[in-house]
Amino acid sequence: MSHHGASQSPGLQHAAYNNNPGRPLSSHQHARTPAAPSPAGYQQAGSFSGQSNPGAQDGQNGAAAQQQYGGDPNASYFPTQGSDASAGLVGQMGGLAISGDSYAPQKAHKKKQRHAYHDLGQPSAPSQPPPGIAQGYGSSQGQFLNAGQLQPQAPGSPYMGQSSAQPMAHMSTADRLRSGEEMVATQGRVDPEQIPSIPRSRDAAAQYYLTQVYPTMERHLPPPAAIPFIAHDQGNSSPKFARLTLNKLPSTSESLASTALPLGMVLQPLAPLQEGEQPIPVLDFGDAGPPRCRRCRTYINPFMTFRSGGNKLVCNMCNFPNDVAPEYFAPTDPSGVRVDRHQRPELMLGTCEFLVPKEYWAREPVGLRWLFLIDVSQVSLQQKFVESVCEGIRHALYDDESEETSFVQNGTEPPAGRLSAGSKVGIVTYDKEVHFYNLSASLDQAQMMVMTDLDEPFVPLSEGLFVDPQESKPIISSLLNQLPTLFSAARAPEPALLPTLNAALAALASTGGKVLCALSTLPTGGPGRLIVRDDSKGRDPDDEKKLLTTDHPGFKKTASSMVSAGVGVDFFLAATGGQYMDIATIGHISALTGGEVFLYPNFYAPRDHVKLANEIRHAATRDTGYQALMKVRCSNGLQVSSYHGNFLQHTFGADLEIGTIDADKAMAVVFSYDGKLDTKLDAHFQAALLYTTASGQRRVRCINIVAGVMEGAMESMRTVDQDAVVSIIAKEASSKLAERSLKDIRAGITEKTIDILAGYRKNFSGSHPPGQLVLPENLKEFSMYMLGLIKSRAFKAGGEPTDRRVHSSRLLRSAGATETALYLYPRIFAIHNLSPSDCFPSSDTSQLVLPPTLRASFSRVEEGGAYLVDNGQGVILWLHSQVSPNLLEDLFGPGKTSLQELDPWLSELPVLETHLNAQVRNLMAYLSTVRGSKAATIQMARQGLDGSEFEFARLLVEDRNNEAQSYVDWLVHVHRAIQLELAGQREKSAGDGDGGAEGILSNLTGLKAPYWN
Ligand SMILES: [Zn+2]
Repeated sequence: MSHHGASQSPGLQHAAYNNNPGRPLSSHQHARTPAAPSPAGYQQAGSFSGQSNPGAQDGQNGAAAQQQYGGDPNASYFPTQGSDASAGLVGQMGGLAISGDSYAPQKAHKKKQRHAYHDLGQPSAPSQPPPGIAQGYGSSQGQFLNAGQLQPQAPGSPYMGQSSAQPMAHMSTADRLRSGEEMVATQGRVDPEQIPSIPRSRDAAAQYYLTQVYPTMERHLPPPAAIPFIAHDQGNSSPKFARLTLNKLPSTSESLASTALPLGMVLQPLAPLQEGEQPIPVLDFGDAGPPRCRRCRTYINPFMTFRSGGNKLVCNMCNFPNDVAPEYFAPTDPSGVRVDRHQRPELMLGTCEFLVPKEYWAREPVGLRWLFLIDVSQVSLQQKFVESVCEGIRHALYDDESEETSFVQNGTEPPAGRLSAGSKVGIVTYDKEVHFYNLSASLDQAQMMVMTDLDEPFVPLSEGLFVDPQESKPIISSLLNQLPTLFSAARAPEPALLPTLNAALAALASTGGKVLCALSTLPTGGPGRLIVRDDSKGRDPDDEKKLLTTDHPGFKKTASSMVSAGVGVDFFLAATGGQYMDIATIGHISALTGGEVFLYPNFYAPRDHVKLANEIRHAATRDTGYQALMKVRCSNGLQVSSYHGNFLQHTFGADLEIGTIDADKAMAVVFSYDGKLDTKLDAHFQAALLYTTASGQRRVRCINIVAGVMEGAMESMRTVDQDAVVSIIAKEASSKLAERSLKDIRAGITEKTIDILAGYRKNFSGSHPPGQLVLPENLKEFSMYMLGLIKSRAFKAGGEPTDRRVHSSRLLRSAGATETALYLYPRIFAIHNLSPSDCFPSSDTSQLVLPPTLRASFSRVEEGGAYLVDNGQGVILWLHSQVSPNLLEDLFGPGKTSLQELDPWLSELPVLETHLNAQVRNLMAYLSTVRGSKAATIQMARQGLDGSEFEFARLLVEDRNNEAQSYVDWLVHVHRAIQLELAGQREKSAGDGDGGAEGILSNLTGLKAPYWN
């Protein structure tokens, strides 16, 4: 792809970003300086300085060259901070719990008395920000473009004509500091600059957590989910594994109701850790297994207490005093703390794993068996889908870290491109028949066995189906090379999917395992064949509802049988030519078994090859367990009222059964009250995941979360976790897809937004002029996320292929908080405005210096600009029609001076020796580490040339698009509804489907964003 293959310096790619193994985050560190003096990392990577490459810039002229990119030289670099913006900043800082009043210190003191031994002494990082931090935030804020310097795209830019917008009605700065609330005047016109900004809040937090750890007991408000951070487990689990919507609970359900907030937890049990975080300890209690409460079966955890000199273990959930088994006994010191506590991770850490003895086994655990099912039917061959799939499998099995050094390794995953030790792999191909392969290392080449009777699935070989991928490397490699041509003569048009899945189930029935199934077309062959249910014609809501679910008996039966056998399925669906795939039916298998659907709408190999191959590798190498059972326990007074996610639950109250579970999967647990909580006690939660690891160990992972209990809900409002609330509402909405119309679901999201903000205004806010929309400190960006949810493919009004709806909805149901946040509001970088030190490691923190992100609005787009837009599903590179030829050459190589000369199917940047090229590749590497399951590959969107411009416009969620309002109009609407609520005049529309909110949203139907000509 690169024209510089011969001259590139091998050490350059990502090396600058990765050459810092140690990641000091010590307490004496202060916020780094705003900008490193020079891109030292780049130069130290031995790049271009001494070389005479005609395409390479001289490093010292880099800055000058950069300034040519922007249309207006004054706009090229970030201006100094605007005077007005600093007032808004104060409010933003409150949201990060760094203003003085966020947590009342006297409460913390009370907690210490209750759990004396949880005073862990000096934390590893200061719990108060160092003196310089406010400065740091200020400079981050200052990097934002000022409105005055924006160059709105001339015709019809959404905010044109609003340049005279009124400034925000300010309270005194002191009042804002105290309250932490955000006030937005909504009676006149709203200044889009002044409404709460997701990018600003993310950037400020990201900046802060570059040098600070998150101590899980001292802080009660986790960092935003969309940013990287290092958590220090102090007994409470890291927010990466569990986020509570409220980190201090009201004592009664009435108090909770006054907030209108859900009480719930987002659980991502196998969430990836990042470099610098301690791996989860694995503890072995031998045949006895981990100590548990005899009455409620809660596992040992840091919140259980010891009495009677260490002879009694008091359960933190049910208060039952258990006898301590002799082998687990240790005396307590005079303060009641076990003397060996510091040597006992299970008494110190919120997240632990226990090896478990035989009674926890359903069968002898073995290393995970991976079965790849490869579609070799006509379309798959024609579209070169099969080649991409084979490439992905080869990547997964045999690539070491080679060219992908960019991935930051976490403590639990094997090196990129390697399955866990102990794993075995098998390969099956299918068209109208199913073909198994004997991959035994003793053979010269793979032997194919054909299963011709599709009605009676059986496995035609007993040995050699599952092999060690290293031992059989020559055979597997050779088969993967041959597959694209092996079937070129057969070209069967109609793949038989269900019989293939049943054959896979038969092959895995005795062990469990993970299936990765690639499919290129609607499977119209064999028993269980699917038909085109969605003819894309107009339909009434009831018909649409049917298309969003499945009642296919064969697929439903196979899905439940797979869960029982401990099998989970990921699909890689090509959807060539944009055709209908019946994802509702096929994806049901993944949704029930704990799997995932990777979708390539309009699969086109030259563009999608890299993404598909990378995602297959990711799916096969991420932390994965199987044959899992999950249970969430909580303190007396609370109970689980619902679960949402990918699993099977036979009856309410039963454990969740999960075929396979991986690092990217999350679920929601919603709690209700069955009594009044005691404010003298904390509320406890424990999620226990019993599973078999990919290496074949049966374990329980315990995730423990504690929350204080308060009279009333004022403290609860101060500890709201916005990302948890957003995730819970998104998952709940997704699970309603089968029962309610889309219109009702949208109305429900709107009403929930209004209920929560009106509840705050009514019960918790200070006194404010009636014309102000008052947003709670920690829910300032909540309404924008809810608008993003209404605009998501899952729930948006107007036409949308049912495949895309179902896929989007299931994504929301199973994604973790990070992926959800990015999906609802993308991160956008202006790469024509990078300063020279951006996207290289800072000399102070040795962390990548990140450029600021921009609001998702076309009003932020500059003439001649180049933007990366990442919603966690893929990265769009949008290029303005008048982008500088210098920028294009620096990014894409010599001779690439106009949009027309660029490859529209490009998915990865070439490796060049220019500063900008290295910056953007570093940025892409960063994006690939902070996201969910999808590969960070590029999709080109050249203004006026590429159809993907529509997707770019769709992602600008602050604008009027996706059949819904702009962010400004949405806030005005929400505010009006709050005022009606306060005046007792609001008419709720949820449920009747004909409410005002939906009316306003649908009035905008058909309005198109006028971005391109
Ligand atoms: Zn108990």
